[in-house]
Amino acid sequence: MRSCLDQIGELLLGECKERDLDEDLRTIKPLARISSLPPDITSLLGKYDLWLRTERKNTPASRRNHFITVGDFWKWSAHLELTSFAQVESAHLQEYLHLLGLKWECRECGYTKNLTRRGETPPTLCENLECGALNSFEKVLRCVERSVDGHRSRLRVFFGWLKEVEEGIEKNPTPADRRRKRRQKRGRRTQKFPETVQYYDWQIIVALLNAIEDPMIPAEEGMVLYLLLYHAFYRKELQNVQIPSQCRPGAIGREPSEFLEDVLYLEWEPRQLSRGMQSSGRSDQPLQLEPRDEPWLRDLIRRFMKERSQKLRTTQNPYLFVGTQASPRSGPVSDQHFERATARITGRVCTVSILGKCSRLIYAEFGGHEGFRHLRELGLGEQRARAYAWAKRVRIVPKQTTKLQNEYAKRGSRPLTVPPVDIYGMATDAGSRQAEQSVSELLRQQLLYTSEP
Ligand SMILES: [Zn+2]
Repeated sequence: MRSCLDQIGELLLGECKERDLDEDLRTIKPLARISSLPPDITSLLGKYDLWLRTERKNTPASRRNHFITVGDFWKWSAHLELTSFAQVESAHLQEYLHLLGLKWECRECGYTKNLTRRGETPPTLCENLECGALNSFEKVLRCVERSVDGHRSRLRVFFGWLKEVEEGIEKNPTPADRRRKRRQKRGRRTQKFPETVQYYDWQIIVALLNAIEDPMIPAEEGMVLYLLLYHAFYRKELQNVQIPSQCRPGAIGREPSEFLEDVLYLEWEPRQLSRGMQSSGRSDQPLQLEPRDEPWLRDLIRRFMKERSQKLRTTQNPYLFVGTQASPRSGPVSDQHFERATARITGRVCTVSILGKCSRLIYAEFGGHEGFRHLRELGLGEQRARAYAWAKRVRIVPKQTTKLQNEYAKRGSRPLTVPPVDIYGMATDAGSRQAEQSVSELLRQQLLYTSEP
């Protein structure tokens, strides 16, 4: 009986999420990107793959990244007419890493093309046949610095393996990381940048705080905003916070033995300490949900838990926020979900991290001499907590929605819902669309009016 019900459940809901994730990982083919390279190169990289797998214990996804980096470098180096990796020199890698940061983009149609060598002149004619614009290419950013650093370090690992394990080369040609250089200079005086804390205007915070108490707010959005503004959550904490075990349903569709809106606390998996991370944050104690006597909080949690139990595919899931798609990045704690929520309420796009900072700043400023203690309770280390007292405040005006609307349109996701006027009283793209419509309506009416005899 039980297994029949499970089967029906799986038929109705699809297989449960955890299994999908494993499936995804198993389908990764690390060597896919280099399959078209010459056989002597692929056999060398095959050996490298074995080493990554057995010695370094790299996951398939990480090995795939290694082969994307090394394979793309080899493809780029075709114009250098090298026959083996042993001929690669430091200058080649330097040029490659420099070029990774740049690309040509057509001003007319947005067609892009990678650079092949330093100081090359842009193609005169746009290579997009439908566009064909003259002299329209300009240099734009291709990879941010951090991604280039990632490619650099993977190339370094590869050439390091070639040198140490394969003994194919004398010296690792990969240029050293800038951060390594900086470390060598320790002791010398370096410029220190003043520490800063970013924040949004109070009017935005007030609008969001009011929205949380609104009984009509979508429950997931309300819950994320509540945890951010009342408890200054970090993104990781949003992803990791758990429901106490007695509030989890015993079986799908069954009621739990206690309701979260009555218990009013959340739990954490105790954080593992390791080198470089020596603070357990606030994860060593359950999180009491405040203010306990406000009816809107209980109402919000009740609505949220109802939605959650409808989404739930396995009762084993302890996390407060659950998604329905295979990717663990999607769901209620994703950027996109959050962008939608803040755009709908304020007409502007806020980020999780700055809103968290706003909340911490409020605790620091209004907490008076208790402020420091509050911040420690929010899980900040001593140094971070103290920094909130003196770091320079930098006011941030959240992004307008237009740019994001265009991005969403390109990706094919549904547009944001925004109010016609944003929090600063400026027309949003929904507002300007309405204005256009009303103007054209007006013109049409005038035409009708004047064309009457
Ligand atoms: Zn073009």
